[in-house]
Amino acid sequence: MMPAFSPLGEEVVPLGQSFGRYLSEDVAAALDSPPFDNSAMDGYAVRAEDVAGAGGASPVRLALRGESRAGGPLPSALEPATACRIFTGAPMPDGADAVVIQEDTERLGDEVAVLEASPPGKHIRARASDVSAGATLLRAGARIWHGELGLLASQNIERVRVYKRPRVALLSTGDELRELGAALEPGTIVNSNVYVLTEMLRELGVTPVPLPAAPDSLPAIKSALEEALDADVVITMGGVSVGEYDFVHEAFAAVGIEPSFWKVRIKPGKPLAFARYDGKPVIGIPGNPISAMVTFEVLVAPCLRKMLGDPQPHPQPVPARLTGGYRRRPGRVEIARGIATREGDDLLVTLTSQQGSGSLPSFAGVNALVVLPADKAELHPGERVDTLLWGAGLRGVSSFFDTLE
Ligand code: AMP
Ligand code: MG
Repeated sequence: MMPAFSPLGEEVVPLGQSFGRYLSEDVAAALDSPPFDNSAMDGYAVRAEDVAGAGGASPVRLALRGESRAGGPLPSALEPATACRIFTGAPMPDGADAVVIQEDTERLGDEVAVLEASPPGKHIRARASDVSAGATLLRAGARIWHGELGLLASQNIERVRVYKRPRVALLSTGDELRELGAALEPGTIVNSNVYVLTEMLRELGVTPVPLPAAPDSLPAIKSALEEALDADVVITMGGVSVGEYDFVHEAFAAVGIEPSFWKVRIKPGKPLAFARYDGKPVIGIPGNPISAMVTFEVLVAPCLRKMLGDPQPHPQPVPARLTGGYRRRPGRVEIARGIATREGDDLLVTLTSQQGSGSLPSFAGVNALVVLPADKAELHPGERVDTLLWGAGLRGVSSFFDTLE
């Protein structure tokens, strides 16, 4: 059983720092939107009854009085049988109840001839027609993304209450690990996982706390774990297999962390530990770079999204068709790397040639994780598979929009 994950608490943040956060309470509209009746077009504000009989053969001449432009002085009230020059977004004068678009008029000195009737309300964006002050604007659990940010800003809402961002410690383990840019003596490798996982965490919206890699020794891993437990969540990487230099199990036990499980039936990524220590989630993922990324994405990220307050933390796969066949040993669900493209109404996915769990080059350009069922030994070209779109998503060199000139 996976331990439960839930938000750590709430805080109020300025709107400018709220992007990507999840609201922890419903937000009510502070203002009517639009805040005042305004014109949707460039033209003339009129009384609809004055122009009711207007037509190409029966123009109605109105005396031109004043002007209303967006951000300009407020127009005075409109007298009967007059028109006010008006521009898009400008406030409607009192007394006016319709706009005649510029194209349906002819300017004659200080008069305007109206060539088309305009019924009440025409071309007016009425006050509160989108939302009334006090109405629910956004619900708790909504992630503040571009649209939500614009909406909140348009409402002059300066601060929002959001769930706290968990601080997530990343503890790599391995004598062989070196920092980026280090001189790599024989037998050593760059701790590439910490750079990848740091960005995966940042993208989710949690605060990454990358720690120096711990060497493969019980005391070193134990004390690094104790330090990591300052954070709200601890993710250890590597050292969870059954080799003689895999001390993460023992270090967990020495600290008093009791995992609810150590293994999951997926490929890549069999060794995986979920535990709680003093209420804090402690998660051990494999060190293998592919396993680390894949297990993080499919198993760890949804837990962190729950902690962020996301009511829909699980990514949903979409069906795609395999372009080639694939043979495998059945038994575990396999998360294969693929490149998805669109062809007509179909989503096609090509598995990358190297599916070994150590091969980082096989991750370049990957935009799909393909979920292969545990019991299948052979998949055929054209077969439908569940696909999680990932990373940069679907892209192409040209699009429908290129044709809109
Ligand atoms: P482990 O899970 O510690 O047995 O490591 C499995 C494989 O992943 C080994 O080849 C390690 O060298 C490699 N590895 C472990 N941790 C990292 C890391 N942080 N970055 C890159 N490779 C790693
Ligand atoms: Mg190791």
